[in-house]
Amino acid sequence: MITGNFKRELGKGSFGSVYHGYLDDDTEVAVKILSELSNQGYEEFEAEVKLLQTVHHRNLTPLYGYCAEGKQIGLVYEYMANGNLKQHLSNKSADVMSWEGRLRAAVEAAQGLEYLHHGCKPPRVHRDIKSANILLSENFHARIADFGLTKTFPVEGGTHLSTDVAGTFGYLDPQYCQTYRLTEKSDVYSFGVVLLELITSRPVIANNSGNNHISQWVGSMIAQGDIKKTVDPRLGGDFDINSAWKAVEIAMLCVSQTSDERPSMNYVVRELSQCLEMEIARKERRGVQPGNHYEMVSLNLGTDLIPSAR
Ligand code: ATP
Repeated sequence: MITGNFKRELGKGSFGSVYHGYLDDDTEVAVKILSELSNQGYEEFEAEVKLLQTVHHRNLTPLYGYCAEGKQIGLVYEYMANGNLKQHLSNKSADVMSWEGRLRAAVEAAQGLEYLHHGCKPPRVHRDIKSANILLSENFHARIADFGLTKTFPVEGGTHLSTDVAGTFGYLDPQYCQTYRLTEKSDVYSFGVVLLELITSRPVIANNSGNNHISQWVGSMIAQGDIKKTVDPRLGGDFDINSAWKAVEIAMLCVSQTSDERPSMNYVVRELSQCLEMEIARKERRGVQPGNHYEMVSLNLGTDLIPSAR
């Protein structure tokens, strides 16, 4: 009934499909249904419900409720009308996310993660931070989703957990893969990869060159000292150069090989907020109102990629 007989599929993940629906006439929701083919299952479902019942923050996607009747399992979330970050950064997206919009999304997602690591007791590690798990609300506020793999530190003051490696290829902390020791710095690594995606709009793993991980590609670009070629070319240079350098520096620090070299999310939030202030100040100097997530950029591309009229 909620999904109108599974009328509109919003997306598909390893848990199953996600459908659009209504709780009542006005309340739009997204309903995630466990697929019989899924190798995830009750454990992930339970982890997500338990977490979202106790943890609330403006940058975490809220859970309205769930259904669990035998093998029929469904999770009902607040509907995030603007999909996920990965879709918006893709070359196939007709609109180009502005630099300010990217920095706002980065700050907000970082605040959600900061809350999980340092704001809630006991602290949590998300374990699956990636651009597809950062959703955008109707007003383009970023919210972290997908808490099926989230781990809670059992004792206060615990510094790590020993656990099987789980997460998504390309976003996985290399040190955690080698040692099986999970700390909040594994999320910091994954967040660094998301930040690099926000800066460059490039795939996390490119299959056409030696520098195939996004961090290797950015590393080689900054070695040449060329920030304009590092940032998504579709922005046409319309961004504050210093904020771009600073954002790249933060991202590269997050993807450091060892966890000790990576910053805390408190630091990341603080530094990214400064990047955002720098970009807003640049716009004000040019007489542009801040708050615009999308700016039309003239693209001379194939027909299906031309920005639609607004
Ligand atoms: P995986 O489960 O393999 O990590 P995933 O994160 O993409 O992949 P899901 O969390 O199941 O998988 O979500 C699939 C897609 O459904 C998301 O990428 C998003 O586009 C959409 N979606 C999920 N939750 C919502 C929501 N609350 N509102 C709107 N769309 C959503």
